[in-house]
Amino acid sequence: MEALKRAEGQEARSGSEVAPEAERAKAAKRDRREDALGTTSHERVESQGCPHCAGREVVGWGRSHGLLRFRCKSCGRTFNALTKTPMAHLRKKDRWLDHARAMIEGKSLAKTAKLCGVHPTTAFRWRHRFLRAPASDKPRSLRGIVEADETFVLESFKGRWSDLPRKARKRGGTARHAGLYQDNIPILVARDRKGTTFDAVLPQVDGASVGAALAGVVTPGNHLIGDGGKAIAAFARRAGIPFHAVPAPGKPTPEAPHLHINNVNAYHGRLKQWLNRFNGVATKNLPNYLGWRRALEAWGDQLAPEAWIKGAIGNGPYQQLTL
Ligand SMILES: [Zn+2]
Repeated sequence: MEALKRAEGQEARSGSEVAPEAERAKAAKRDRREDALGTTSHERVESQGCPHCAGREVVGWGRSHGLLRFRCKSCGRTFNALTKTPMAHLRKKDRWLDHARAMIEGKSLAKTAKLCGVHPTTAFRWRHRFLRAPASDKPRSLRGIVEADETFVLESFKGRWSDLPRKARKRGGTARHAGLYQDNIPILVARDRKGTTFDAVLPQVDGASVGAALAGVVTPGNHLIGDGGKAIAAFARRAGIPFHAVPAPGKPTPEAPHLHINNVNAYHGRLKQWLNRFNGVATKNLPNYLGWRRALEAWGDQLAPEAWIKGAIGNGPYQQLTL
């Protein structure tokens, strides 16, 4: 990446060969500011290389649409930090930091739209574009003791302004509870004692669904703790993972005080309380909201609008940990 830095240095200096030192520094500063993503552009390119061929020899190649442009020496193609990310071609980059801040604070669509000066339908589109990468940014493995449990969230089909636009849909013959416009959607959360958290929407609560979600994430090297529900126990048995059932939720035995699922249950509590503000989310969008919550927790103290944008272009907290 030395070539990249050199190329940028040359670019910052170009056109100001005769300028005094102070002027030149100012020009360089101005040039850096011209990238709407700040330092994120360089970080993305340094961590991922060329998005077309994964080549690592990359040089600066001017600017376009408010972003630094790069050129790959292997395939000869040009790109910017957003190329082949869900954020490519999204406009009004100067509003993205405001939008990121609104997402971190969990503001409603109406407030987000007002803050960013965009139409609420744009805010809705942005929200889900910003969430596409975080939705799949999950840890690839958990360490040591892993607590796992399912929870259920209510899906609402009522048309509400706060999480629209979509029309209340007819459920036809597919409603699981005839006559009700809500369903209970099972969510599996597995969390290790370092706080690394994996979650998934389950098609149903059984060993096969838990296995499809946790395969490779929780392995025989772990100790899995559950509340005695059959699905997680069945998965553990089939996968050969040591399993411990907690006798009663929140009440570990005095002989084994570490065998509890209090952390995962606390996560459930935070997730559901936070989800309340959206007044019900559509099942198809639920993975996005899980990713949103997971990213909020995983960034923790490092959470800032810039970090949120990094996550939106695919450099989320878990992806960084596995690099
Ligand atoms: Zn390339």
